[in-house]
Amino acid sequence: MPSDHQKVALVTGASTGIGRASALALAQAGYITYATARRLESVQPFSQQGLKALRLDVTDEGSMVAAVRQIEAESGAVDVLVNNAGISELGPVEEIPLDRVRLEFETNVFGLIRLSQLVIPGMRHMGGGRIINISSMGGEFTTPFSGIYHASKYAVEAVSDALRFELEPFGIAVIVVQPGVIQTPLGEKTLHIIRSQAQRLDSPYADRLTRYLRFLEDNSKPSEAATLIPEDVARVIMDAVQTQSPQTRYKVGEEAEQLASMRRKLSDREWDAMYRQILG
Ligand code: NAP
Repeated sequence: MPSDHQKVALVTGASTGIGRASALALAQAGYITYATARRLESVQPFSQQGLKALRLDVTDEGSMVAAVRQIEAESGAVDVLVNNAGISELGPVEEIPLDRVRLEFETNVFGLIRLSQLVIPGMRHMGGGRIINISSMGGEFTTPFSGIYHASKYAVEAVSDALRFELEPFGIAVIVVQPGVIQTPLGEKTLHIIRSQAQRLDSPYADRLTRYLRFLEDNSKPSEAATLIPEDVARVIMDAVQTQSPQTRYKVGEEAEQLASMRRKLSDREWDAMYRQILG
């Protein structure tokens, strides 16, 4: 690789939140950064800040193949892939239509796997690269009415563990980032889903969903000092990208540390009892 090689980064779901902040941080650090999104107009305004806007829907094979081809033709192989795009499906497992479950996995898991498959040959050819998979603190524990989201993040954790081992001989590092609660549009999208489900009075879960909604609303606005913003995650991602020997996992925020540690200490019954208290 020539020493003047300018490194190339690809970020999925860069229209808002963590994706946008990490794309901007990568561009600022000198990476040729492809900020990708399913709606091109959501990333185009950031071209003035050095981002290259590209359409990429992680549930669409054709769009993933075309995006990677275009990047490799224009700028060379991808050095850093940030698998960030994600959605949060919520509600009682019994009541979530299977096509919504499939979409959750298409977006959060299959898209991440497929894009990794597409960039790995280029990384191997270059002799290295980094794949940053955005999981969640919820990749280590499950909360009620979020089973499908957590299942998708558990899958991200498992795939990342296997990939890390498989790609190590090629100099490709696979790193998991587990954010706690971050102030992004995802929080409001989540509350919106639970609100509409709690309004379904014919649901046998209506009472508990209403209490869960109240709990989420009360806890969705931490004190200003404790509020984490997308840039906090972007800083951690940059650390994982730039440090010589990255950790395998990075938690973002105290809540992520504390809840994961609490889950490890409590038995299954004790964990359930904690939520029984919250949900009545
Ligand atoms: P966000 O602002 O809602 O961002 C999600 C991004 O994913 C958006 O850019 C969205 O694009 C994109 N996306 C959704 N479906 C897509 C698809 N089919 N193809 C391409 N892009 C798609 O939320 P965020 O909080 O930044 O979430 C980013 C990641 O962090 C997610 O993986 C999430 O699970 C994880 N995370 C977030 C938190 C948190 O508290 N915020 C905590 C733990 C983990 P559109 O604009 O087109 O919808």
